[in-house]
Amino acid sequence: MEPHTAIVVGAGFSGLIAAEALVNAGWDVTVLEARDRVGGRAWTDRLPNGALIERGAEWVEDVQVELLGLCQRLDIALARTGMSYHHRTPVGGPPVTEEELAAGRAALRTLFADLGDEAYAISVAEAIERLDAVEGAKVAFRARIECTSGAPATELAAWHLLHLASAPEHVDSPRIATGSDAPTRALAALLGDRVRLSEPVQAVSVTAAGVTVRSSQGEHAAAHLVLALPQPIVVQEPFGSLLPPAVLAAASAFGVSHAAKLFVPLAGNPEPSAVLDTRRDYWVWTANQGDDGLRPVLAGFAGSKPMLELLEVERGGSTWARSVAEVRPDLDLDVDNAGTQTWADDPYAQGIYTHVRPGNRPDDALLRQRYGRLVLAGEFTDDVWSGFMEGAIRSGQRAAHLLDPSLPPPAAAQH
Ligand SMILES: Cc1cc2nc3c(=O)[nH]c(=O)nc-3n(C[C@H](O)[C@H](O)[C@H](O)COP(=O)(O)OP(=O)(O)OC[C@H]3O[C@@H](n4cnc5c(N)ncnc54)[C@H](O)[C@@H]3O)c2cc1C
Repeated sequence: MEPHTAIVVGAGFSGLIAAEALVNAGWDVTVLEARDRVGGRAWTDRLPNGALIERGAEWVEDVQVELLGLCQRLDIALARTGMSYHHRTPVGGPPVTEEELAAGRAALRTLFADLGDEAYAISVAEAIERLDAVEGAKVAFRARIECTSGAPATELAAWHLLHLASAPEHVDSPRIATGSDAPTRALAALLGDRVRLSEPVQAVSVTAAGVTVRSSQGEHAAAHLVLALPQPIVVQEPFGSLLPPAVLAAASAFGVSHAAKLFVPLAGNPEPSAVLDTRRDYWVWTANQGDDGLRPVLAGFAGSKPMLELLEVERGGSTWARSVAEVRPDLDLDVDNAGTQTWADDPYAQGIYTHVRPGNRPDDALLRQRYGRLVLAGEFTDDVWSGFMEGAIRSGQRAAHLLDPSLPPPAAAQH
């Protein structure tokens, strides 16, 4: 078997980044993707009124240096939205002022720093109980974390407060102007016919002689294998039994998070805004499309399984959109044409991303090593940016480096 050959399973950010790096280093690579599109959990679409929508990943942060660098390298523009991903006006809970929220965030930073390793032992709910802040701030923080992390606060390790503790105070958050899946489409174009769509992998064998993969279209052989898949898929057959038992245990230790997105066509020209419903753990926003003014859609993100049931997302967007119309009576929402995107029922995602459960810290360093012919990629394997496009990119860089040490590992991450 020619040594510099690899099969990459999955054409999301992680798989395509790994494949591109290896190809640039002279490797012969085949990427097998189950869907008829690249991008995985980054999936850009349009409403009938022309509004661009993001069914999956949407927000970019200024500290996500690998994602920003990738966009720059591929000549993909970012668009400023006129609102902050981090700043959401809470509604529905006890009254709270901006000053009280700011003081609560400062107290949260202190609490998080004091927790140290205890952040993995106790839950977000327990940590918030200890927080020196007014009740309205505590309710808002709890809803914010449950929403973003996609699980109830009692089921999340306090480590999940990091994202809130490290959030900048005032930013104009960017998105990728032509859609979050644009970098993956550009990478796939560079890789050409090495990327094979609509080829779900059904069986894999890894032996001393090499790797053989059977997809719906036939057999492929190579010397190495990169599994660039979501966590719920990697721990199942035909992939789970390829992993050494300790690695499978580490990957299985995560909880699977649940969330849905909402899209309601919007008329008029309201200001960019972001509102958090603290009773139902969702946030909704109106945002600019760079210099082109407002995108004509109100978009939303709701997290945790119980809240998705409450909002009846499996039945479409009507219950959720009616709830939004109560919270935002100032907007001209086309509630009858509201739509949702769910991910737990998507066979090639089976959830949105993962979370760390209290008292159940995964031995995730095991996910960032090479096992003979096999390496893992995928956002959940990253130590700093799991659950983000940044983490997926870093994981792809790391997988390529593990197979070919002449390629650089990801740079030290900021948060
Ligand atoms: C609703 C939602 C909102 C999000 N919001 C943000 C955000 O605002 N900002 C941000 O940075 N990140 C966000 N994310 C996270 C981001 O989308 C992911 O971290 C990133 O896209 C994951 O990339 P990946 O390559 O690790 O996995 P994926 O994109 O899931 O790629 C894995 C690929 O493997 C394929 N596959 C699965 N099974 C098989 C099989 N048997 N054979 C072949 N192929 C298979 C899948 O089809 C998929 O294309 C969000 C995610 C969701 C779901």
